[in-house]
Amino acid sequence: MNRSENSADNFPVRYQESDSGRRIFVPLLLVLCISLSSYFYIFQFATENIDNQAQLEMKSRVEVALNIESRRLGDLLTEYAFWDVSHLNLIQKPDSKWADENIGSYMADNLSMALSIAVRGDDKESIAYRNGKEVKGVLPKIRQAGIDPLIALIRKNTRQPDPQNAFITVDGQLMLLAVDTFTPEFEDSPAADGSYLLIARSVTPDYIASIGDLYKIPNLRIARGPISDANLFHTITDLNKNAAVTLTWDERSPATAISYQVAMPLTGIFLLMVLISAWIIRMDIYRRQQQEKILRDLATHDPLTGIYNRRQFFQLAHQELGRTNREQSAMSLLILDIDHFKQINDQFGHLAGDQLLINTATVLSAGLREFDIIARYGGEEFVILLPNTNLNQANEIAERLREQVEETALQFENDSLNVTISIGITTYRFHEETRELLARADHALYAAKHAGRNRCRVASA
Ligand code: GH3
Ligand code: MG
Ligand code: MG
Repeated sequence: MNRSENSADNFPVRYQESDSGRRIFVPLLLVLCISLSSYFYIFQFATENIDNQAQLEMKSRVEVALNIESRRLGDLLTEYAFWDVSHLNLIQKPDSKWADENIGSYMADNLSMALSIAVRGDDKESIAYRNGKEVKGVLPKIRQAGIDPLIALIRKNTRQPDPQNAFITVDGQLMLLAVDTFTPEFEDSPAADGSYLLIARSVTPDYIASIGDLYKIPNLRIARGPISDANLFHTITDLNKNAAVTLTWDERSPATAISYQVAMPLTGIFLLMVLISAWIIRMDIYRRQQQEKILRDLATHDPLTGIYNRRQFFQLAHQELGRTNREQSAMSLLILDIDHFKQINDQFGHLAGDQLLINTATVLSAGLREFDIIARYGGEEFVILLPNTNLNQANEIAERLREQVEETALQFENDSLNVTISIGITTYRFHEETRELLARADHALYAAKHAGRNRCRVASA
């Protein structure tokens, strides 16, 4: 029996659980979080800039809208003031019917005009309408609203249409005003006499709302109270320099609006990436752990029977001996060899021999306690270390194992195969080495073989 000393005691194989997956996962998560937050920071920065630009653009759009409205009113005025027939019917020979049909009820009904007044060159009111009704003596009130400088301006050039616009307040009502001198259509027209025509429409909530609709200013309206954001209001000042009305509108944040449409899917994609990365890493960890387990098993187990190999036996025996010495507890060892195994091989073939080896290992393992250590020691030899077991107990265990092997038949093809085992038994003496223990058990095994096989023998002192 070749049971040469083995250097396995000095050849411990250590495998560690891989935690490299976790080591990658944390930085990866960190990188994703940092890029996600910096992305949001940049995104918010850009969004704010674009929204601010949009606000400024909206504020100037309000100013442009009011300018265009003034010019439209001026153009309307020019149609009447640059028309000799209207000078005739409003100044030279005031005709109430003509006036009503052209600048009176007509303008009030169709153009929401609040005032239409024709004034003579000597500053006397010729004919006046307020909200479509003819009125007398309204001119002084209008002059109080501060129009005199405008009149002086338009009278400087009575031969060209140059309507002037302004906001005026009349009886507490803000109005958009257009005024111009009557302008002669022909060289010999008497219109260039300093007489003028004045029209004004009230700046009502409805009018402001219609400007908002026309110029696409969201919810343009007259503000009820003070507005803190300078980009969100426009104050209309009247001719007397009073801040008459403050207009405001809804904040428009196009970038923010878009950002919700963009940010949500992007966040989703980021989270998905994190989850996929986590999943890939987990799979990688799992795969490595599986590979390590396979490697560990290959290094420590016998591939045929699945029990510990010789090298692992020495490793474990070394630990057990140390513990037994420390605790001063009992420990015993069995060496088992299958009887006449060569014959089995010769008679039934190697495959049957292999199957018998597997079978025997299974029977032996099943008959042991959880803390017992069984290993395949050589070809058809097994070694069993029995911690916390004295010689008597070891003897009982050995006898039981021997019987179990003897009683277990293996059905191989058409044959029922039975083997027997011989067992050498010994118990541990403190501070001796594994190979001394093994050598004693080996002697006992030899004695068992010599005595006829299929029996147990205790090593002699
Ligand atoms: P003894 O009762 O004296 O032990 O007789 P034996 O025939 O069992 O003699 P020995 O222990 O010397 O022979 C061991 C035989 O076991 C030799 C070898 O062919 C066979 N053997 C060793 N390992 C294996 C194995 O893995 N598979 C098979 N099928 N046979 C093996
Ligand atoms: Mg044998
Ligand atoms: Mg043998």
